[in-house]
Amino acid sequence: MKIQPNIFENTEVAFADKTDADLKKAKALFKLMSNNGLVSLGSSLANFALSIHLPVSPLFRWTVYNQFCGGETFNECKRTINKLEEYGVGVLLNYGVELKETEKDFNTTVDKNIEALEFGGENKSVKALCIKLTGFGRFGLFEKIQRREKLSIKDKREYVQVKNRFEKICKVAQKNEVPLYVDAEESWIQEPLDGMVELMMKKYNREQCIVFNTFQLYRHDRLDYLKAQIEKAKEGNYILGAKLVRGAYMEKERERAKQFGYPSPIHKSKKEVDADFDKAVNICLDNLDNLYLCIASQSEESNLLGMELIEKKKIDHGNPRIFFSQLYGMGNNVTFNLAKLGFNATKYLPYGPVKEVIPYLIRRAQENTSVAGQTSRELDLVKKEIKRRKSC
Ligand SMILES: Cc1cc2nc3c(=O)[nH]c(=O)nc-3n(C[C@H](O)[C@H](O)[C@H](O)COP(=O)(O)OP(=O)(O)OC[C@H]3O[C@@H](n4cnc5c(N)ncnc54)[C@H](O)[C@@H]3O)c2cc1C
Repeated sequence: MKIQPNIFENTEVAFADKTDADLKKAKALFKLMSNNGLVSLGSSLANFALSIHLPVSPLFRWTVYNQFCGGETFNECKRTINKLEEYGVGVLLNYGVELKETEKDFNTTVDKNIEALEFGGENKSVKALCIKLTGFGRFGLFEKIQRREKLSIKDKREYVQVKNRFEKICKVAQKNEVPLYVDAEESWIQEPLDGMVELMMKKYNREQCIVFNTFQLYRHDRLDYLKAQIEKAKEGNYILGAKLVRGAYMEKERERAKQFGYPSPIHKSKKEVDADFDKAVNICLDNLDNLYLCIASQSEESNLLGMELIEKKKIDHGNPRIFFSQLYGMGNNVTFNLAKLGFNATKYLPYGPVKEVIPYLIRRAQENTSVAGQTSRELDLVKKEIKRRKSC
């Protein structure tokens, strides 16, 4: 079957799970989010309101939270998950609480992730749990390690704790057969993170693929890194878990490189990033014998390319080694159309207490205004579906 290039224009499929009222609300929200000034003002006001403990949670819950998050509890998430399941869409769970920096917080994050893995073990639609290693250890510690600074005895103990926390999670993931997708973060801490992930892949990816690393193709060195990791996994006789993304910290990376006077690790243009992303998808699909792949992108072009290559290489649409993923609340035209054609489509689904997830939501809103055209594309699709329904 040939994949139609206009497949993602099908808004009937894209919004099949949405009521007319849901669509109206999404339209209002994306309209607001397309206004840079309003998002910036709203973010500052939200941060201020939180800092003086104003009760803003209900407002957030009714607006952005419901659009982008699964729920505050697993029970609430279950409703979202069941609804997605009806359309053949799975989820990647993510405990959306960020920016914690104390040992107590790190231990809480481990406990929360263990709960999520156990929940995932009982729910087939949970295809993986997404974690950040900065949820288990101090950012400053990772920086120090990457700078190859001498670690104090206290630092060394702390590092052992971080590795123990990660390994504890890997063990529970293996027991519950829920893969772990480890996020890629800022380039100046990524080396120790990669090291830890590689170690866990060697240990836990012998028969199944439990641990995935993330490859940020906006970095000009990551395609080579991916190739080297594929070879290493082959030689070491373990499975490589590869989640491909473009990368979320472009502006921060460039600013830092400028500030400290080193060459930016980010490609100079989007075109180069796209070319590396395409090559990475192609290479991964050619190495499925010892690799599991997740194409994590909102881009219609990248998802279309993935689908076309799968067809061209005569791989089953539902091959259990290949997943696609988009953020919950966005890119439904991609996810639902992928699922309709039998591909393993998933949504990245953050959950957690509204108040604690607000920083994630603010970032989402800001990212939407900074990613050229994305919000207007979402808005156009919602409008198109509203119009289509009216004409029926
Ligand atoms: C399921 C999922 C998991 C994710 N996990 C991670 C993760 O672990 N780590 C992480 O960093 N991000 C992660 N992301 C975020 C991801 O990196 C962003 O969503 C992504 O960058 C947006 O790109 P895109 O492929 O969706 O689409 P596009 O809209 O095609 O690409 C936009 C991206 O291209 C790059 N770009 C844009 N302009 C330029 C330019 N001028 N020069 C160079 N590059 C440019 C930037 O990376 C920008 O974000 C994840 C996203 C999803 C959906």
